[in-house]
Amino acid sequence: MLFFACCIPVKGIQLGAIYDLQRDDIERVPNSLIDFIYNIHSKTVMNIIEEWKDDDIAQEYIEFLIEKEFIFFAYEDHFPNLSDDCFNDDVSKIEFATIIVSDDLIDKMQYISDRIDYLGVKRLHLHFSLNVDVKKIHNVLNSLQKSCVIDLSVSLPYQENFTSSVVLKEQRLKSIYFYQSPYSKEDNYGRINLYYLKQDGSNLFVPKSSIDTIAINHRAFLTAKKFNLGLYKTILVDHLGRIRLNAVDQKDYGLFLGSKEEIEESLLILSVLWNLSRDKIHPCKDCELRYACTASFIPEYIPEREGYFVNCNYNIHTNEWIY
Ligand code: SF4
Repeated sequence: MLFFACCIPVKGIQLGAIYDLQRDDIERVPNSLIDFIYNIHSKTVMNIIEEWKDDDIAQEYIEFLIEKEFIFFAYEDHFPNLSDDCFNDDVSKIEFATIIVSDDLIDKMQYISDRIDYLGVKRLHLHFSLNVDVKKIHNVLNSLQKSCVIDLSVSLPYQENFTSSVVLKEQRLKSIYFYQSPYSKEDNYGRINLYYLKQDGSNLFVPKSSIDTIAINHRAFLTAKKFNLGLYKTILVDHLGRIRLNAVDQKDYGLFLGSKEEIEESLLILSVLWNLSRDKIHPCKDCELRYACTASFIPEYIPEREGYFVNCNYNIHTNEWIY
């Protein structure tokens, strides 16, 4: 009996998980099931039946693994183990940027667009404040027309009848988040996902872990093995144009519109943080979600405890999210 190489068992302190990297799915399972997988891997069916025939839980585990197609029966394993070498072919300096678009920054959009190209930003999120109108949004998107961005999303205050807006013609626009909406709803307008959120704009970028911050795919998994997936090549540019890692970050990493030399220095400082994989951070190192978690908590070194820590809202002992 063999375990598919694209299904990755990960143990946590209390619960385990199987990452199905082919189906981009995750199954939370008891740690004892993961021990069982290692125990039966490569054994013959006859051996497994002989060893576990009187164990009801083992029978349940086998049924579960067959039903979920995590295991298969063969004399030889035809699926080689995943190689870490096929990691990230991306050459951009920053892959994902969020920009808090203030009036001051709107006037500098051409420079911002140049900087986005210099960094090779692929995914860009633009956050607009309460006083924004459709014309401003349209102008900002227009100034990015020739940029290297391939995936755009925006957040803006709730507006009725936005679906008649010219903004929706932007081909790279994938998602719009309407904050301060009177209702919660997910919808779509053609290829564009629309999210109506009741929360106000100020806490949209406060780091938080939830089922929505779990990314299961091959590239994310390999990235998370080496780096902090939530911070890797990711920045937030605040309303004053300062580079941050998230909305509550108080550290100074320099200005987004600083010189290229200054930007390179900022990247050097940031890379120290994104090089800290979650295997080196408490409590993440004991969390079953550590190779899929995109929450952007910034690890802090605590000398008395001789380690890096984050204050996450996921409890690894009860496996519950605290909101
Ligand atoms: S403990 Fe760490 S890995 Fe687990 S959900 Fe929180 S931030 Fe993510």
